Amino acid sequence: PSLFSTVPTAPPDAILGLNTQHRSDTFTKKVNLGVGAYRTAEGEPYVLPVVRRVEQALAKDPSTTHEYLPQDGLKHFCDLSAKLILGADSPAFTNDRTVTVQALSGTGALRVGFTFVARFLSEETAVYIPKPSWSNHKNVVVQSGLPPTKEYRYFDYGTGAVDLEGMIEDLRAAPAGSVVLLHGCAHNPTGADPTKDQWEHILQVVQEGKLVPFFDNAYQGFASGSLEEDAWSVRRFVKAGIDMLVGQSYAKNMGLYGERVGALTVISSEGGNGEAIRSQLKAIIRAMYSNPPKHGAMVAASILGDGDMFAEWEGELRKMADRIRDMREKLRAALIKNGTPGNWDHIVKQIGMFSFTGLTAAQVEFMKNKYHIYMTSNGRISMAGLTNYTVEYVADAMKDAVV
Ligand code: PMP
Repeated sequence: PSLFSTVPTAPPDAILGLNTQHRSDTFTKKVNLGVGAYRTAEGEPYVLPVVRRVEQALAKDPSTTHEYLPQDGLKHFCDLSAKLILGADSPAFTNDRTVTVQALSGTGALRVGFTFVARFLSEETAVYIPKPSWSNHKNVVVQSGLPPTKEYRYFDYGTGAVDLEGMIEDLRAAPAGSVVLLHGCAHNPTGADPTKDQWEHILQVVQEGKLVPFFDNAYQGFASGSLEEDAWSVRRFVKAGIDMLVGQSYAKNMGLYGERVGALTVISSEGGNGEAIRSQLKAIIRAMYSNPPKHGAMVAASILGDGDMFAEWEGELRKMADRIRDMREKLRAALIKNGTPGNWDHIVKQIGMFSFTGLTAAQVEFMKNKYHIYMTSNGRISMAGLTNYTVEYVADAMKDAVV
């Protein structure tokens, strides 16, 4: 018998497993609200025109090669990425306090970042993630060699807003040196973000408790439509001059999902050790995948580094964010129109790609079985998966599930 014949089957991923189910469903009116990928008003995947143009130019350019990048990726891309999230005039750029490396999208930034944390913070370092959070956070932390994540209270199911009191209480109890994962904007899955005042409060607790924030930014520009607005929380923390980590993804905001384009920035409260930090990040990357892919980083760098293309990209971001907000309005209107019991205001109050509907796991299962509508069992729906053609069908199915 094979040595591998006793390998047990791993549980399917809570989110990606839905795609597989949806794909093999032959029902014509099936709807996929599971995975967070933007879809056009016609329900199709979207390649930003500015991305397409850059790709065509790269393909025609005889100087484009497939040579390896260094372990830490395309330098130009990293510099522009750090500027994008921190702001060009960030205090972190003085005294050589930032180290940015290219990463395999947002997940890769977390994976390299947490491996760095595991090696260089104290052995007892605890990682706190919000309850609830993106389902992959706990996997990445453990795979990085850290103990299982701890959770801090984040969401008030009663009000649909951030449970600031609970969050503060839990963070106050975290031992000094603990890493706190924070969603920079558009919290996934709840769509509830702290207000600016609440961020101030969180920062205060982080500083007093000597905690290390790790910002996960998967939606900069995609949440509000403004790159600046969506970076506010990160920039506020950077201004405080503390040690922190920042992950970035161009999956949603540039639509580069499968190209795996992202960055990790380690920010030190004091400069002077950048080269050592970079050398360690490079060593981690070398053993993990040697060096990152080139194509997507070249595309992103071209857009980030060109005034006209950057402006065009910002326009695209506003359009994508607007379509999502429009779908929020339409879904709530359809639920009111068809008389679904309950208050659905949270659908329009939430921000980002998802709506945390409040549907129970049993209701989610019911909608899948009877209506072929797919969403994660926590009742999270991707608003970008809705269109004018499907919104009423989904609202009617929700009514049937709720009553
Ligand atoms: N963090 C959060 C909160 C996310 O929602 C996502 C995407 N679903 C990611 C990280 C990572 O996505 P990617 O690796 O595709 O950039």
